[in-house]
Amino acid sequence: MAGKSKIEWTEATWNPTTGCSKVSAGCKNCYAENWAHMQQKRGITQYEKGFQFSLATSRSKDPLRWKESKLVFVNSMSDLFHEQIPLNYLIELFETMEQSARHTYQILTKRPENALKWLKHYNWPVNVWLGVSVESKKTSHRLDTLRKIPAKTRFVSFEPLLEDVVPLDLSELDWIIVGGESGGQARHIEKRWVTRIQDQCKEQNIPFFFKQWGKRAFNPNNNDPTLNKSHEHHARGGCLIDNKLIREFPKAMYGTSY
Ligand code: SF4
Repeated sequence: MAGKSKIEWTEATWNPTTGCSKVSAGCKNCYAENWAHMQQKRGITQYEKGFQFSLATSRSKDPLRWKESKLVFVNSMSDLFHEQIPLNYLIELFETMEQSARHTYQILTKRPENALKWLKHYNWPVNVWLGVSVESKKTSHRLDTLRKIPAKTRFVSFEPLLEDVVPLDLSELDWIIVGGESGGQARHIEKRWVTRIQDQCKEQNIPFFFKQWGKRAFNPNNNDPTLNKSHEHHARGGCLIDNKLIREFPKAMYGTSY
């Protein structure tokens, strides 16, 4: 069975690798790191090396067994383009994705330069979206690398958004996600940083998805109804902007791009 996901912009997760290593400021409070250490303490075999990058080879073909089509987030607990992934394993995973075209895959990486470097070894399947995480101006060069990769659907996750990153070059991008950091050590987010990205998306007609504010203290509206646990879109820090839930998806979701 697919791992059902609580992440608002996907339906299922598939983790054919686990563990990672930190590459930029956005990694500071990595959720996957805390999770890996918890699983290690519980004695889960896949996590015997804690947060060290590890292959989960028994999962490499899992999506072939999932009958219903799904939106699948690849590696919610790792980075598929980590330097330590063996090329033959990466090719095997791309074959799995290509052979299960009923699913739509969402790969999100902080290492698009590796995706680009290894690109000549595999064909980029049309059902595989590629996204980069960008948390700061310093990491916005990932957008330029993303544009060089022939994924049919390209997206960006500005989460955790750590500063004002506008103006941005959003050309050739199909979807933008924005969110604040959550958890005990969460760093703050400002509404202005969010709405400046939102405005640029509007101008350029790019679907915009606001995930959440991260913490109640960061939410500009203390009466946001999604702060309430009983709300259907409850998020710990709330998720409305000016009382609106804004959760758009790329055109590919509606079968118009491929
Ligand atoms: S790239 Fe992602 S999974 Fe890896 S350390 Fe950074 S935040 Fe964690």
